[in-house]
Amino acid sequence: MLKTIRQWLGAAADVVLPRLCPVCGKALDDDEQWLCRKCLADLPRTHYEDAPFNTMEQHFAGKVPIERATAYFFYEKGSPYASVLHDIKYHSSPRMGQWLAARAVSDMAASHFFDGIDIVTAVPLHRSKLAHRGYNQSEYLARGIADELKIPYTEVLKAIRPHTTQTHKGALERWQNIQNNYTLKNDADRLAGKHILLVDDVVTTGATLTVCSSLLKTIPGVTVSLFTLAAARLD
Ligand SMILES: [Zn+2]
Repeated sequence: MLKTIRQWLGAAADVVLPRLCPVCGKALDDDEQWLCRKCLADLPRTHYEDAPFNTMEQHFAGKVPIERATAYFFYEKGSPYASVLHDIKYHSSPRMGQWLAARAVSDMAASHFFDGIDIVTAVPLHRSKLAHRGYNQSEYLARGIADELKIPYTEVLKAIRPHTTQTHKGALERWQNIQNNYTLKNDADRLAGKHILLVDDVVTTGATLTVCSSLLKTIPGVTVSLFTLAAARLD
């Protein structure tokens, strides 16, 4: 109920209503940001970054040469944590994503996952979707990481066609469809020899990340690593 009122009130809600944890719905304490302490502690972490040749890296092996890949937490439809992703994408809470991504960097410090990365970029959103939503959630995630690492965020890829619903299509058709959705920006070659971290909100089939990584790999001497905020269980 509070959540509905909040959506209806928009930004004014912060003044008159308590901020809520999107996972459990509890009112946040003054020193809690975005998620309550308990839900943050219970975040279903993948810990992929701690394992050599982890499940996510295996998923992309043979499709596109990836240096390293990780996701911050597991995503399952219906899980209370799915609402975090939903809010980041649709409910004008991209700053929660930015905050969570920055947190992921400090949480993963011991793994050295981010060592050697030169620049951070995001899976782009087509301008029609951008106009509708007002922001690209993956860009916020990428900026959160770049700021925390004190390295540049830059746009390298361009979405040239809107993402269409593909449920009725076969795997090959789906693949070809996604392949035609993206291209490199004209000045991409300035990143020759760099280690690029490509960021998206969630990995499910990995098709979009494969297509975007393959494009990045056409820049001479480029190394690509992947970060997503969440991952479906990839087996
Ligand atoms: Zn909570």
